[in-house]
Amino acid sequence: MIHSLRFRLLLAFILVILVAIGTVSLFASFTLTREVRQYEEQVDQFRFTRTERLIIRHYIERGTWVGVQPLIEQMGTLYGRRVVLTSSSGTVVADSQGELVGKQYQSAVPAKPLVPRGGGTPVGTLYILPNEADPTSAARLNKAINLFLILGGVLAIIVAVVVTIFMSRRILKPVRALTVATRQLAQGDFSHRVQFKDKGEMGELAQTFNSMAESLDRYEMLRRNMVADIAHELRTPVSHIRGQLEAIGDGLIQPDAKTFSSIYEESLLLGRLIDDLQELSLAEAGKLSLYRQTTDIVQLIQKTVDAVRAVATTRGIVLTIDLSGELPLCDIDSQRIGQVLHNLLDNALTHTPRGGAITVAATHVNKFVEVSVIDTGEGIPPADLPNVFERFYRVDKSRARATGGSGLGLTIAKRLVEAHGGKVGVQSELGKSSRFFFTVPIVT
Ligand code: ADP
Repeated sequence: MIHSLRFRLLLAFILVILVAIGTVSLFASFTLTREVRQYEEQVDQFRFTRTERLIIRHYIERGTWVGVQPLIEQMGTLYGRRVVLTSSSGTVVADSQGELVGKQYQSAVPAKPLVPRGGGTPVGTLYILPNEADPTSAARLNKAINLFLILGGVLAIIVAVVVTIFMSRRILKPVRALTVATRQLAQGDFSHRVQFKDKGEMGELAQTFNSMAESLDRYEMLRRNMVADIAHELRTPVSHIRGQLEAIGDGLIQPDAKTFSSIYEESLLLGRLIDDLQELSLAEAGKLSLYRQTTDIVQLIQKTVDAVRAVATTRGIVLTIDLSGELPLCDIDSQRIGQVLHNLLDNALTHTPRGGAITVAATHVNKFVEVSVIDTGEGIPPADLPNVFERFYRVDKSRARATGGSGLGLTIAKRLVEAHGGKVGVQSELGKSSRFFFTVPIVT
């Protein structure tokens, strides 16, 4: 409860209200008291001057204060204040309340010495006492203002509670939705999305959450697919090996050199698949260590092409290198890039019929060297082109199996090139040719 957003919001509202009311109340009472006091002093002054003449005239006409009491009583009633008049010796000669007459009187309240016109010694002193029972106008005003502020404050707090309940419901709705969605995500349900369309921070948060959930969903799907793919890829060679071994056990086939060589071939395929998977998982986790060195790409191309030349010749395929002009030195891990080129050449050799041609070309493009492997082979249907770099993707599923490829060659090539900061691509015309290319950075 104490930690809830609603409670904190309410607390903040109440705090703001109290601070505002406190400040206004302080300011108002301070300024108003001063203003009202000044005004009252002016009024008192005015009363003094008006009554002063009247009282002095009474004294001058009679030569004594005798009979002044009714006048002072009238004044008291008129002003609503106690009025005390003392003689020049300080003895009370009239008191609007009558009690002090004949006594000595001295007071701290503003006193007005009564000096006859034309000057001379004062004939007495007039005191207009503050009314104790009746607070001053300033105090009254202060009280009224404070009451008004307290009532305003109570009203503001009631409004704050209502607004908080309403606002927190609006604010908390997406938060609650996000909490539910996060809980579901934590339980492995990646399909859940927050249905909340709002502009501003909450909307942004909901959107970010949804895209995070989408990524997780996608990764989860990829992971599941990958596990399924791997299981599928491993099943064929394993069941082949098992089938052959069972057949030998049952005496259905002879354990001769041909059988063993077939089993050996399958085990090689399994080994290659496992190596490729390991390489791919390293590359995908960004854990591939590259030993980049200044490399003469021309030499690397020649060396790699030479390595497959014998196979090409056996298959009746013409293999040529086409380098346009001087090529700059490259900043690459020559073994890895050699592996990429080897992969592309292997594929080209597999998919090019006898009598075909394979050309390895390289050109300097900006800060990269682009290496292409062009074949006059079977080509790739346009619909398959965007997928050939995906793991285990094969254009012709049945035939590719027979060629013994793991279906990971292009995926690994792509990851290796990307680890160097380069790009891979493919262009193809079905039944005519294919061009696989990649770029590698030059030494800068
Ligand atoms: P594989 O181990 O099956 O060769 P790759 O990842 O190297 O796996 O290639 C993926 C798929 O791309 C291949 O199965 C094949 O269908 C297609 N492919 C690759 N290179 C070529 C090429 N030069 N000509 C035609 N198809 C190709």
